[in-house]
Amino acid sequence: MAKIKFQEYDVVICGAGPAGLKMACELQKRAAGVYKILILDKKSPWQEPVFCAEAVSADRLSEYWPIKEHWVRQRLSGIYFTSPSRDRAEFYSKDCGLILNRALFHKDMADTAASLGVETNFESLCLKVEPSSDGRWVLKVQCLGDEIELKTSIIIDATGPGAKISKGVPELAGMESGDADLESAIFAVVEGIEHSPEHIELFFGSRFPGGYGWLFPRDGKEVNLGFVLGRHQKKNESSRKQLSDFIQQYFPTAHIKAVYGGMIACGQSKKPIAKHGFFKIGDAASCVNPISRSGIVEAIVSADVMVPIVLEWLSSSSPEKRREIERGALDAWMKSLGESHLQLANGKSIFSQISDKQFNRATKRLSRLSREKTTLLRIFIAVLFSTPSLIWKLRSFIR
Ligand SMILES: Cc1cc2nc3c(=O)[nH]c(=O)nc-3n(C[C@H](O)[C@H](O)[C@H](O)COP(=O)(O)OP(=O)(O)OC[C@H]3O[C@@H](n4cnc5c(N)ncnc54)[C@H](O)[C@@H]3O)c2cc1C
Repeated sequence: MAKIKFQEYDVVICGAGPAGLKMACELQKRAAGVYKILILDKKSPWQEPVFCAEAVSADRLSEYWPIKEHWVRQRLSGIYFTSPSRDRAEFYSKDCGLILNRALFHKDMADTAASLGVETNFESLCLKVEPSSDGRWVLKVQCLGDEIELKTSIIIDATGPGAKISKGVPELAGMESGDADLESAIFAVVEGIEHSPEHIELFFGSRFPGGYGWLFPRDGKEVNLGFVLGRHQKKNESSRKQLSDFIQQYFPTAHIKAVYGGMIACGQSKKPIAKHGFFKIGDAASCVNPISRSGIVEAIVSADVMVPIVLEWLSSSSPEKRREIERGALDAWMKSLGESHLQLANGKSIFSQISDKQFNRATKRLSRLSREKTTLLRIFIAVLFSTPSLIWKLRSFIR
């Protein structure tokens, strides 16, 4: 058990998920010991379970973090798109993604942060922030049974969906609060299912209104089976019951080992993500892809985008200049992924209008093609041809 070393810091990062850990490593690397940086989490980031299906694009992740085999559960070479009639279209690509062991991935990131010289403390619950009279922040933290106060110039909120630590702080009113289109997702870790360890399978149709179901392989034996549903969809049953019905109907031989759930902030707003030296990244800033609901690489990208902005802020002493830097934070995110997320968010409701019949027709059409010919563009076109009314509605999507 470790105590927090100092009472004052230049930067305190709250939350040691992919966003916070990437921020800690990059800030420390680029500022090379100039600033005192502390990263806090209420639990060790490698503590199981991590509420996630753990799929990422290998290409995209490797741009931001070197891939190490010991935290790769599975390399993927294909995706099955499965319609309500259980017809399957296969998208094949030699390297179409990875299933991570997120606990080990977080451990790698946390060890890297510590070895670079970042102070890490994973027994600290961030309770509340308050502005201090000298223009910095006071952060109240519960650590080893005591409530302590830290002073810091910058707070990075990387606490995930819901971003609770900034709630109710008048200086931070109007900021993005990690709840844009907050959806619930649930999954079970399951054994006893025949499956291809190199494919993920995505399920569409009215069983998953506004969202989709998934089967992600884990280690050849276990799979992660779950779904995410649109926020506005009416639910007659609990998510647990829906999950168990889905599993029973589609995979009657399945043995459920555990069930987990979580929230995904998968909309994109234009609300500020930096104010008064308080910056938000990752899910706390609603950085998840609104359609795929992937947020791991997106969280890392959002941290990467914010690093130079935070450093510029720290090196400037003029309040006016700092306000300008903060205003530029949202622009930088929008240029990187935010604009495309906004377009996807606009098109999201349109995809939820595709009927089971239309999905069945599109998948049948695609299943007649050889797997080498089933490109993502062909899949998209097949869905459009089965749903001509979509073409007109998609205007808003490409606006
Ligand atoms: C069921 C489910 C399945 C998913 N599947 C995928 C997938 O397959 N692929 C993908 O790319 N994305 C997936 N996501 C999304 C992905 O998990 C998130 O987008 C990603 O984890 C965001 O990273 P983050 O660092 O912003 O936040 P998080 O990973 O949520 O990390 C936040 C950290 O902050 C800590 N924390 C929170 N509050 C406090 C506090 N007050 N004090 C101290 N510490 C605090 C938490 O303990 C946590 O460690 C899934 C999400 C869910 C819910």
